[in-house]
Amino acid sequence: MSDATLPPPDPGERMREQTAEAVLAQAETAVEDAAMDVDMAPLDVPRRMLLVHAHPDDETIGTGATMAKYAAAGVAVTLVTCTLGEEGEVLVPELEHLAADKDDALGQHRIGELAAACEALRVTDHRFLGGPGRWRDSGMMGTPANDRPGCFWQADLDEAVAELVAVVREVRPQVVVTYDSNGGYGHPDHVQAHRVTVAAFDAAGDPSYGPQLGEPWQPSKLYFSAVPRSVLQAGIDLLREAGDTSGFFGVERAEDLPFGVPDEQVTTEVDAADELEAKVAAMRAHKTQIAVDGPFFALSNNIGQRAFGIEHYTLGRGERGPGSGPHAWEDDLFAGLDA
Ligand SMILES: [Zn+2]
Repeated sequence: MSDATLPPPDPGERMREQTAEAVLAQAETAVEDAAMDVDMAPLDVPRRMLLVHAHPDDETIGTGATMAKYAAAGVAVTLVTCTLGEEGEVLVPELEHLAADKDDALGQHRIGELAAACEALRVTDHRFLGGPGRWRDSGMMGTPANDRPGCFWQADLDEAVAELVAVVREVRPQVVVTYDSNGGYGHPDHVQAHRVTVAAFDAAGDPSYGPQLGEPWQPSKLYFSAVPRSVLQAGIDLLREAGDTSGFFGVERAEDLPFGVPDEQVTTEVDAADELEAKVAAMRAHKTQIAVDGPFFALSNNIGQRAFGIEHYTLGRGERGPGSGPHAWEDDLFAGLDA
């Protein structure tokens, strides 16, 4: 501190008055600032996003890097998972007894895996639609689990939509993320998550819909997870170069896969490669489901791993923001919003 900042020696009465006035003026400004903050309401200060996924682990595989990136940037990130993933295959031999056809205790176990994954992604607000266990994993399309009462595929849509609308109205996200109408790859719970989320997105802002579910709130943008064909093709090529012909279902061309979106239909690329470590840590947390030491991760090629931290989306509702590159991809899910 320099001498210049010290109070002048022997200040006169007049000086004291001026100082008191200055202090009062400062206090007034501070009060005005505080009042402005109050007017804005705490929820309106940060950017907020809501992700709706079908099973524990989907959030990490499809959107983990995005979640970690926005959470690290101070965005309020809420994850809603629709089922406990009870029908998942168990990749860990000593936990095989948890499987649906044995002890049928996988769901409880996966609650813990999901909590650990969210911690790795630094996402603190995660919930299960209707509470844990409200809807059960429906299994792969065409399996008997699809018909089981209580599974998400058999859910009463109105009830599921109401549950999600209540969350939307509570956390008031500007951005909502889920799967496309094919659920990404046709899993019934993913398809159902899409239906429920689209319906909730459209209903949440409607004052005549479920007034008991909270104040209406209309999110601005709805996104669907997407894997651009060019990215799939790069992955296929990489595995083949590494001598692995079984990866990506053994196909040579991305067009032959049941997922993958033509690049020109993709609208948004979130480069969260800096969060790759968090994403991989979250994948490791889903121990029963993901073999992180499988062929993909065995690839020493950094390009393959880096690509894994870049996630893509198509805009399903709302105004597309400014973008760049050959397809004018947005680089931010909040692009074009004031938030
Ligand atoms: Zn899933």
